[in-house]
Amino acid sequence: MEKWSDKIFDQLEEKRSSIPKNDFRFLSIGRITLMAQKTEEFAESCPACQNNRQIIGEMIQSLPECLNSPGGRKSYEKKKNLIESHLSKVHHIRPAHYLYAFYTLLGLLAGFLAGLLLSFTVGKTWDRSFLLSGSTLGLLLGQAYGKYADKRNYKKNLQI
Ligand SMILES: [Zn+2]
Repeated sequence: MEKWSDKIFDQLEEKRSSIPKNDFRFLSIGRITLMAQKTEEFAESCPACQNNRQIIGEMIQSLPECLNSPGGRKSYEKKKNLIESHLSKVHHIRPAHYLYAFYTLLGLLAGFLAGLLLSFTVGKTWDRSFLLSGSTLGLLLGQAYGKYADKRNYKKNLQI
């Protein structure tokens, strides 16, 4: 029997030509098929994913018409965000580059704060060079770790 997520994929492919290219990219509509695969994996043991399966089906059904009204567009984005956040919070599924962005920002902030602290303890005064080198170092470390974390997640099959 054909898998449900394969059907979703086929349905989206059929509609693809009637969806404006910019919308397709900007709303990352292609990701729905990946979300569908993961949702199907978890649906057996997770009631929320069972429910999300139905929502994903409706989202595909309503394309591309729902993109033409502001209300429909908003509700499409809202549904997609809810499903994404459920997959992320409960099943640790993260979009590609999510961890990179997260750790880069975290590294930058941590580096800035470390620079600030060093400036007043070691430097005894407000010293911009501490802030600059702290932020730069933090940024680089954050980027490196984020890249690694993204790759690790990908290997664990936890990426959409
Ligand atoms: Zn779930």
